[in-house]
Amino acid sequence: MSDTRTSTASAELFSQALDLTPGGVHSNVRLASPKVFFARGEGSRLWDVDGNDYLDYLLGQGPMFLGHAPADINDAVALAVSRGMVFGAEHPLEIEAAAGVLTTLGWAERVRFGLTGTEAVQAALRLARAATGRTRFVRFEGHYHGWLDNVLLGPDPEVPASAGQLASHLGDSIVIPWNDADALESLLATRHDEIAAVIMEPVMFNMGAVLPRDGYLQKARELCDRYGIVLIFDEVISGFRVGPQGAVGLTGVVPDLATYGKAIAGGWPVAALAGSERLMGMFGTGEVNHSGTFNSSVMACAAVAATMTRLRENPPYAELERVGTSLREGLARLAARHGLPLHLQGLPMAFHASLGGPDGEYHDYRGLTSRDLAGYAALSTQLAEHGVWVAGRGIWYVSAAHTDDDVAETLDRVDSALAAR
Ligand code: PLP
Repeated sequence: MSDTRTSTASAELFSQALDLTPGGVHSNVRLASPKVFFARGEGSRLWDVDGNDYLDYLLGQGPMFLGHAPADINDAVALAVSRGMVFGAEHPLEIEAAAGVLTTLGWAERVRFGLTGTEAVQAALRLARAATGRTRFVRFEGHYHGWLDNVLLGPDPEVPASAGQLASHLGDSIVIPWNDADALESLLATRHDEIAAVIMEPVMFNMGAVLPRDGYLQKARELCDRYGIVLIFDEVISGFRVGPQGAVGLTGVVPDLATYGKAIAGGWPVAALAGSERLMGMFGTGEVNHSGTFNSSVMACAAVAATMTRLRENPPYAELERVGTSLREGLARLAARHGLPLHLQGLPMAFHASLGGPDGEYHDYRGLTSRDLAGYAALSTQLAEHGVWVAGRGIWYVSAAHTDDDVAETLDRVDSALAAR
């Protein structure tokens, strides 16, 4: 297949983009990706401007959980926006979307919609500070909470990750290893007076795909209760993906606040903050500010409402589990056949691939960084050249649109890519 693939049109567009846009991309996350321009996406598949097709396991970094161009979601949005898009005021679809999210989640009492996960995290941290009167928050190595100054983290938590980001911005947070209950307990025992919130990805998807150790989230919940600290789950990746109630449903641990994005709206740009009435109510009194011109637009609410309807009426989770497991098992078989030291871990709908390193699962960021991440990134480029579109950082997202035939075709393509190495 690689013999017939050309990339002339993509290369031409990329050279034009370089004259228009820094680095030719609109998000720094894409700087390291192969420079492919896509013309179209449908279901599990993408087509580039040169006519090459790809089985997609990047899913736009996660949002295309229902597959590309999901007709039920897009039809609902098209119908709604034919009557207007942004009112700067309330409209009935807000009720449908908010009720849909709260019913699906089950545990949360109130929800606010925004545009990006980054904003939802900031709103959560602000609420936590307002509610506790404390200033700092605890976060964890390897967890990503958006690109703003107070949360963007590089490999060394003491050193700003970006030029222009000040070391003082990082002083808002205290960074400790995740999945280590003793580390959290001893920190909170001595410094709880200054800590407003503990924020974490309840399943660490940004660096690996790492499940919480048995009892870890329960312990975090117990400690936050003991010290009056707000527990925030950043479910921007896990929310609505690992199950209808996200990581809360998976683990049974309920946070005070949780952020959502990506899978919440069939690919439309929506994020949400959900939580207890006690905390969220501070937005309602005006005591805490949360604003945004495009918050709860007609398209956002139509997309969220339709997504919640789909998840309720036609839940994809059992099929995702089956298809994702079969993909993961097939990849492991191919790796063994080609002598590739591939390590896979996580959940069927979102698992992580890495190369080298010690046998067995890793349980935190340090475990992941002991593996050959550069080697996997190079492999991901080879996979793209063979028609399998995956993230260089190792995550494989499976959508509700992937089928057994897709898996079989993917494995054929991976087989060719590995044979060509
Ligand atoms: N939180 C988590 C866990 C994420 O994975 C991301 C993005 O990948 C964000 C927050 C930021 O979301 P956004 O890119 O929509 O601003």
